[in-house]
Amino acid sequence: MTRTPDILILAGTPEARDLAQRLRSNRPAPLMMLSFAGRVDQLPETPCPTRIGGFGGADGLKRYLQDNQIRLVVDATHAFARQMTQNAHVACAALGIPLLRLLRPQWSPIEGDRWQSFATTQAALETLKPGSRPFLALGRQELAPHLSAIAPMHVIFRSIEKPDYTLPIHWTFIQSRPGNEAEETDLLRRTGATHLVTKNSGGSGASAKLAAARSLGLPVFMIERPVEPDSPLFDTAEAASKAICALNL
Ligand code: NAP
Repeated sequence: MTRTPDILILAGTPEARDLAQRLRSNRPAPLMMLSFAGRVDQLPETPCPTRIGGFGGADGLKRYLQDNQIRLVVDATHAFARQMTQNAHVACAALGIPLLRLLRPQWSPIEGDRWQSFATTQAALETLKPGSRPFLALGRQELAPHLSAIAPMHVIFRSIEKPDYTLPIHWTFIQSRPGNEAEETDLLRRTGATHLVTKNSGGSGASAKLAAARSLGLPVFMIERPVEPDSPLFDTAEAASKAICALNL
């Protein structure tokens, strides 16, 4: 009889893929399914089967878990994917399915940083004074609800994906991934940014902009992570993989 995946990994982060890769190299390898929201045009290569798209809220996820006889869920979504994390918590609690959280550590300020913390994107953007020239390292979906409020400013907006809405004509839009420290320093300097606005995503992939802001003495408006429901927490794929292997599913 063909076995079907019994571990569901909620993805959208490098850590999710790293975990799948590590579990895959175990013998016997557990059967996993990586789930993506479907926000990006091109999915990275994955070491196991994938599914794409929402489940239909917590109830839809519950149905999926039951229909597919999932025995363990790993929430390896991004720190700011608040809804998916909440739904996973509700669905797993209702069905008594173990839920693990894989979440990279957040960033913390070091000497020389000029950070101001905010609980929400709105609070950060509202604090910008007229005449500022903020560099927004935010997702296009995050920015959308605040567009009209900050439209009059001279905003520099950097995003991996092009927004599917129109940006004010006087804004500078940069479609790119984060660069290394030298590139980020050059970009902040060249665009004349007065502030860096970013979420506390953590990890090394996007941290060079913080070092760049530090070296230029720029204020950083840091949007802090949402509070999450409690579940066993692992901050590396390696630690999560060891814990999953110990479960002997
Ligand atoms: P979100 O607000 O928590 O999720 C909104 C809805 O998208 C969820 O309710 C769910 O739809 C669907 N969804 C989210 N993650 C999913 C997954 N892994 N598999 C299947 N469906 C998923 O999430 P978001 O902030 O829009 O982020 C979407 C995805 O991008 C996440 O997977 C996240 O890991 C990744 N990501 C997010 C950020 C960020 O800053 N938010 C940054 C990098 C990567 P249903 O309710 O219909 O199930």
